[in-house]
Amino acid sequence: MGGGTARGSRAAVPGGRAADTRVDDDRDQGRALASSRRGRLPLGARPAEGDGIDRLTIAVPVKGRLREPSVSLLEDAGLGPEQPGERALAFPCRNAPVDVLLVRAADVPEYVQDGVVDCGITGQDLVRERGARVEELLELGYGSCKLEAAVPEESRYQSVEDLAGARIATVYPKLTRELLPVEVELVDVSGSVEIAPRLGLADGIVDLVSSGNTLRTNGLRSLGQLFSSQAVLIGRQDLTEQQSADTSRLVSMMRAVVEARAHRYLMLNTRESGLDEVCRIIGSRSPSVLPLAEPGMVAVHALVPSAEVWRLLPELEAAGASAILVVPVERMTR
Ligand code: AMP
Repeated sequence: MGGGTARGSRAAVPGGRAADTRVDDDRDQGRALASSRRGRLPLGARPAEGDGIDRLTIAVPVKGRLREPSVSLLEDAGLGPEQPGERALAFPCRNAPVDVLLVRAADVPEYVQDGVVDCGITGQDLVRERGARVEELLELGYGSCKLEAAVPEESRYQSVEDLAGARIATVYPKLTRELLPVEVELVDVSGSVEIAPRLGLADGIVDLVSSGNTLRTNGLRSLGQLFSSQAVLIGRQDLTEQQSADTSRLVSMMRAVVEARAHRYLMLNTRESGLDEVCRIIGSRSPSVLPLAEPGMVAVHALVPSAEVWRLLPELEAAGASAILVVPVERMTR
């Protein structure tokens, strides 16, 4: 792709002008933008001449697993569309000089690398597979999955090392070559990878797995994990000082939401004599401790990891804590 777009007073979608590139009912633009529109922004996302505002452009998955969580992350970070219910492929955000472009997740790494947009949300697997020269700015805490090697249940292969010379079906040829410890023969498929061994096309596969249900349903057994992935915010490498500052602001807004989602605000009452035990259970040496009207009683407030709540509650109850409240956190900075 050609060099980056000139920035200056660029606006992906000028406020007040209707974006004219629309999606169909399943929100699919119907084709890969990167291949047909290299180096250019889609129609309706063209720069506005001379509006004097430096705007940041961010590419977000238009469909698939990463679409909804990415759109909701933008919303929670205060970067929802200026027009509620916006269905255009490119729209300005309210509250910040940021323009969103909806494109295929697989095209995001290339768009960012080539400066078509300043940043983007996509999967780490796609960034690595494309070999994109971009900065990984922030792990977003959703879209978690693993790239695994798997073979039919009944096959003789017991470890990834056994796969030397085997035929492996995958849509991740680059990562497979990089991460498998042995040489294999790659079988090119464009989808439904799990079925390739049953069709006799391959001895095994390398594919993304989250729960492992799809592997089991297709009679496959995992030989091990090659790569662990989640959604990530990526940015261009060649940013000017101003662009870096704008990008840092976007990263801060998103980080505050990502951190908040990973935590809960815990409030409880306890006898002062039980305070040490409560602190030990929640793993915090400095929670907020507030005296209550009842002598000898205190309220304890602390941030705890969301994933720990299920373990903490019964332990705190057993330690005599009462009036336990667990509430979500909207934004959080450390
Ligand atoms: P999609 O657009 O739905 O094909 O998903 C694209 C991205 O979603 C992948 O590149 C991964 O980063 C992420 N993802 C998360 N879990 C899975 C999964 N179980 N299978 C495939 N992709 C996944």
